Amino acid sequence: MTTLFISDLHLDPRRPHLTRAFFEFLDTTAQNAEALYILGDFFHLWLYEDPFTLEVADKLKRFSQQGTRIYLMHGNRDFLFGQRYCDKAGATLLKDPTLIDLYGQPTLLMHGDSLCLDDAGYQKYRRIIRSRFIFALQYVVPLRVKQRIAERIQQQSKQAKAGKSLMIMDVTPSEVANQLQSHQVQLMIHGHTHRPATHQLEIDHQAAERIVLGDWGEQGWYLSCDADGSRKLVSFDITPDSKKTDS
Ligand code: MN
Repeated sequence: MTTLFISDLHLDPRRPHLTRAFFEFLDTTAQNAEALYILGDFFHLWLYEDPFTLEVADKLKRFSQQGTRIYLMHGNRDFLFGQRYCDKAGATLLKDPTLIDLYGQPTLLMHGDSLCLDDAGYQKYRRIIRSRFIFALQYVVPLRVKQRIAERIQQQSKQAKAGKSLMIMDVTPSEVANQLQSHQVQLMIHGHTHRPATHQLEIDHQAAERIVLGDWGEQGWYLSCDADGSRKLVSFDITPDSKKTDS
C-alpha cells in the first residue's frame, strides 16, 4: 500500500510538457497508489474552469475510477477552485492545514505559504485574497472580466520575473514548531517553497520531521509513503517539449 504526495506542478497550457509528465506519472508511478495528495499550486493559475483545467479534471476523474483516492488542497496560485471542480476531478477538497493518519503516523499537510511569516507583505495579501468574500466573488464576476484579470497577471509575472515579487521566502522555523506543537504531530508535509528536502527537527525534546515537496520543471518530484513506514522523496527528469519533438 502506497500513498503519494505532490505539489507545485504549476500546470499551464503554455507548458504542455508538464501536463504530459503528470499524465504519465498517473499512468505509471501512481498506478497502484491507494491515495494521491496534491498539496497546492497544482495549476500555475486557476481563475475559472476552462478547456485546460477541465481536461486535467477529466484525466483525474478517470484515474480515480481505477481506485485511487485523490485529494486536492489549494495553493496560493490556485485557491479559487471549489468542490464543484473537485467533483469533476473525482477528488476531495482539503482544508489547509489538514491532519491525516498516515499509516498510523499523525501527519500535518499544508501548502506551505502560511508558514512563511517573514514575508509580512505576502501574509497581509494572503489574509485578504483568501477570504470567503473573494472566494464568493468569483461566482458573480463575468468570465470576460476573469479572462482580462488572467492576462494582466500573466503580463505582470513576466515583467516581475527578475524582481522580488516572484521570490518565494523560506518557512519561518518558529512557525513550523508552532504548527507541529499545536497539532501535536511529529510529521509535516508541505510544498510552496520549491526547496525539496527532508528536515530532521527537535521540538520539545522530541524528534520531528518536515518534508518539503519539490516543484515540477526540468524535474518532477513526489513523496512516496508505504504502510511499513518507509518514506521516499523522489525526483525524475521531465522531457521538455523541444526534445520530445526532436526524437
Ligand atoms: Mn505556492
